Amino acid sequence: MALPVIDLRSDTVSRPTDAMRAVMAAAEVGDDTWGDDPTVQRLEAVLAERLDKAAAMFVPSGTQSNLCALMAHCARGEEYIVGQEAHTYKYEGGGAAVLGSIQPQPIEMAADGSLDPARIASVIKVDDPHFAMTKLLCLENTHNGRVQPMAAQLAAIEVGRAAGLTTHLDGARIFNAAVATGVPVADLAAPYDSVSVCLSKGLGAPMGSVLVGDEALIGRARRARKMLGGGLRQAGLVAAAGLHALDHHVDRLADDHARARRLHDGLGSLDGVDVVDDMLETNMVFVSFGERGPALQAELAEVGMECRLSTGVSRLVTHLDVTDAAVDAFVAAVAERI
Ligand SMILES: *Cc1c(COP(=O)(O)O)cnc(C)c1O
Repeated sequence: MALPVIDLRSDTVSRPTDAMRAVMAAAEVGDDTWGDDPTVQRLEAVLAERLDKAAAMFVPSGTQSNLCALMAHCARGEEYIVGQEAHTYKYEGGGAAVLGSIQPQPIEMAADGSLDPARIASVIKVDDPHFAMTKLLCLENTHNGRVQPMAAQLAAIEVGRAAGLTTHLDGARIFNAAVATGVPVADLAAPYDSVSVCLSKGLGAPMGSVLVGDEALIGRARRARKMLGGGLRQAGLVAAAGLHALDHHVDRLADDHARARRLHDGLGSLDGVDVVDDMLETNMVFVSFGERGPALQAELAEVGMECRLSTGVSRLVTHLDVTDAAVDAFVAAVAERI
């Protein structure tokens, strides 16, 4: 089957570049479960330094990284407070509850991805045998492509800290937030005890995430990773892709953001298309084609353009395999069919 010419379903669909494949092939490797893989160790050291944390751990996926973090923060019977729409609650198969015996305490998320501090305070439980022990506050940046304002994060964290909670950031796309705002990732990570970063989204590696935090937390996370089946052997092959991405694919996230703007403006100029202006901050465009959505998706797929369109608001995502010409071709293809 031919690969799609243009794929706007997610930034996870980007494929490793030739240069990335070359560094993967040349990577120095060892058995990482025994702590012997120099490339994994270099990747962990580089990300710990960039996010200004003491330690880091490479994991196969962002889901496993978040779960290792939850299990490192919370013991059995403890709970974490999390947004109802957050990845760590909604999109990880219930792993915290199923595999960690950790109780989620989801709360409403504002449209911009923020959590109301008063609502956080209202669900923090006192020490009473009726209740799970509230242990952790978990936030996400970016959420639906939206950068979380630092003031809102700090207001949420302050309420948590006052009650003795620890903090975890699902920073799957934290580099998009850093590039969009010009704020160093270390500053975005600073208020948190742990941060999970994806290498396989906009950064363009074929797989891998890294969890950063202090030595004790990462030590506990390593135990969880092994238990979850995420202890890898010659993982330097993929860690090399992550190192290459950190060297070559961070600044260029600005291109993805500019192309999302180009896509937004192009689609916005068409009759019958509603773009959501205030959700465009990084590499995600939110748009509605109304009742035409599902049929339009099928028609575009016939000409090699992949996207997921519902009758409601749908997400289109730019990434390193989407050029300006691809954006223009997509807009033209929609214009012909809408
Ligand atoms: C993609 C993503 C993850 C991790 O996903 P994996 O597919 O398991 O790598 C976690 N959080 C957010 C917000 C994500 O977008």
